[in-house]
Amino acid sequence: MSKQELLNQLEEYGIEDISLCNCGAYTVTINNKNYSVHKDNFFKFFPDIDEEIFNESIKKILMNNFYNCNHCVNNWGLDLCACGSGESPKECEEGLEECGQPMQNIEAGYNHVRGGSSWM
Ligand SMILES: [Zn+2]
Ligand SMILES: [Zn+2]
Repeated sequence: MSKQELLNQLEEYGIEDISLCNCGAYTVTINNKNYSVHKDNFFKFFPDIDEEIFNESIKKILMNNFYNCNHCVNNWGLDLCACGSGESPKECEEGLEECGQPMQNIEAGYNHVRGGSSWM
């Protein structure tokens, strides 16, 4: 499968683009916003996507070793705490006001809780 064929399959889930970082996180583009999530948690956030699509050959197509994503650089992700600790929201022990919430939320349409919108 080529990347375009994969994207054709993911289109129905609203995913416009997808890449896989060296750190093991996927970054997907939905409504022109980028969301990152570690591959181990990917299907928790996209349960309707057929895992069979994501076989080893597709991972090679998506892998970009020179890519630094927001998951590893900024600790931004669907599966990361809003405080920026890089922990999962449930396990974060920073004790900050925003802890327990995810940094990114597709339904709510935000791709990071804090800061401006000038990051991309
Ligand atoms: Zn990364
Ligand atoms: Zn936290």
